[in-house]
Amino acid sequence: MANIKIKKPQNQEFRKRKEKKFSRLRGVRDILFDEYKYYDLLKKKACDLASVYGFNRVETPMLERIELFERSTGKDTDIVSKEMYSFIDKSGNKIALRPEATPGLVRAYIEHGLFNLPQPVKMFWLGPVFRYEKPQSNRWRQHTQFDLEIIGEDSPVADTQIILIAYNFFSELQIDVQVQINSIGCPECRSEYINKLEEYYKERGKRTKLCVDCKKRFNKNLLRLLDCKVEACREVSADAPQIVDYLCDGCRDHFIKVLEYLDEMDIPYNLNPFLVRGLDYYTRTVFEIVPIFEETENEENKDSSSFQRQVSLCGGGRYDGLVEILGGRPTPALGFGLGLERVVKKIREINIPLKSDKVDIIFLAQLGDQARRKMFVFFEEMRRRGYKVRQAFTKDRLKAQLEEANRLGAKQTLILGQKELIDGTIIIRDMDSGTQEVIDFKKIYSEINKRLENGSNSSIGIMEEKEEKKIN
Ligand SMILES: [Zn+2]
Ligand SMILES: [Zn+2]
Repeated sequence: MANIKIKKPQNQEFRKRKEKKFSRLRGVRDILFDEYKYYDLLKKKACDLASVYGFNRVETPMLERIELFERSTGKDTDIVSKEMYSFIDKSGNKIALRPEATPGLVRAYIEHGLFNLPQPVKMFWLGPVFRYEKPQSNRWRQHTQFDLEIIGEDSPVADTQIILIAYNFFSELQIDVQVQINSIGCPECRSEYINKLEEYYKERGKRTKLCVDCKKRFNKNLLRLLDCKVEACREVSADAPQIVDYLCDGCRDHFIKVLEYLDEMDIPYNLNPFLVRGLDYYTRTVFEIVPIFEETENEENKDSSSFQRQVSLCGGGRYDGLVEILGGRPTPALGFGLGLERVVKKIREINIPLKSDKVDIIFLAQLGDQARRKMFVFFEEMRRRGYKVRQAFTKDRLKAQLEEANRLGAKQTLILGQKELIDGTIIIRDMDSGTQEVIDFKKIYSEINKRLENGSNSSIGIMEEKEEKKIN
């Protein structure tokens, strides 16, 4: 045999490069196998619900012009002024990584002339959004959003319907939630309210107590003072005038109808006068969905203000002015955004097992090269017939293959060895009991089907017992 010596790399540069390891950026994450199953589940749930209610899926680019968000989300909002990833591209265009979905969807509505379609246009959207936030528990700089928008609809029924869809999303995942709802009126009635609010905050001593951010917001976005989470600001705002007392007839009527429909649908909600949402474009109905506070010894935590401190799982509302702001005709619209990361965390907290999809897995094992070749071909045949087949054809030892079969959760393993190959037979092994049976290779499908029927009957029984604890 030739004596081949492999020299160790001498080059210092090469060695350095080889040693360098990369880690992910701060605030972003990798979602690995087991966790991704939850994302699959949520995405499927989102798609199913959206299509039942007549929404069609769209996708928009992650990159948009900065100006789109400055004009819609609002230049002075935290999202645009502090948290937006932006850069100048090689042609000198000012570009942003989308920090939220709605502006891009409204741009697409206008750009593609979707106002020519029968109205309303119902869109749903699933994808990543980016915000340069302070990394903290379950706040990520890239997160996945499920977004629903109805454009071209002013009926309060639509408001209730999107709240209902969001509510169903959570309750069908067995997450107990409550709707926080408010109306922030239209530009007309809101301006009167904002004057009142300004008078209130200008009363002696109030402004000095506000946090730094609220002092800045004072002249730019007075409404935002209401939902500041800083304790001192919450105390100052506690007795502030409430917008529901200043709504014009149209806005009041709309809001009452939304609440009536919510009552009709038995959706639990809490009128929250401090809920304003952070974005400039909202009008009339705004809502958030928060997990219901769990029973606690501490009575103080049970009051309604504790809901405000809850992390919201979903937020949305009406944006009747946005289409016009972005250059379209005046068009009423509404929608919500729902971050999947927080939902995954919640599901894992309450520890609901996922329904197993491993019931019918059949593993193909082989001993010897000839048997392997036959099973290699047979695997493709079974797969095309729709069986859930698995294999480990790169492994030689039967023990290693059976370990893999167990790891994959296979219920049956078909084993083909030299002897079976010659006899025209094959072994079926029941992975739970370990019992094996030699069968005629020609009868393989009827034998498998017989076992699948028996097997799946008994496992459905097991699953039904635990059904209420599983989600699908
Ligand atoms: Zn109004
Ligand atoms: Zn504040």
